[in-house]
Amino acid sequence: MSRIAVFPGSFDPMTIGHKAILERALPLFDKIIVAIGVNSDKKNCFTIEERIAQVRQAVKSMDGVEIATYETLTTDFCKKCNAKYILRGLRSVSDFEYERNIAEINKLLSSDIETIFMVSDSKYAAISSSMVRELKAFGKEYQQYMA
Ligand code: ADP
Repeated sequence: MSRIAVFPGSFDPMTIGHKAILERALPLFDKIIVAIGVNSDKKNCFTIEERIAQVRQAVKSMDGVEIATYETLTTDFCKKCNAKYILRGLRSVSDFEYERNIAEINKLLSSDIETIFMVSDSKYAAISSSMVRELKAFGKEYQQYMA
């Protein structure tokens, strides 16, 4: 049975921090599906087409990575893909508090799906999609943080 993980997120945009987590997690799974959440209520900086194109470019040399979009609950999307693992990154204690709640809810929804956390390398701990969006909004250099 192959080990399939879903790496869900907004990826608005995918940063070098996300990419580092993905690269480190790849040896643990047969396949990782980068799942870009489409949430019509959320005001995104990059369109879904832009995000797909950016992620596609970022993962083009990685074997075992697929890209998908989804509009459902993450656990329902995992079931659709036969994924038994959800991959998430942790940068800080505040990430942990937030992520633990999500992981608990997902566990209640689907007890057979495990959330796997990877702690970010300290050099990526301050990097976030929101930071990139802020730099972009104020006309500053942001490309170096994009995956
Ligand atoms: P969401 O909108 O669901 O929070 P994001 O696209 O912001 O999704 O992030 C997806 C996952 O990547 C989350 O688990 C987040 O904590 C993690 N992540 C974001 N930035 C980094 C980083 N610099 N290093 C490690 N993990 C990160």
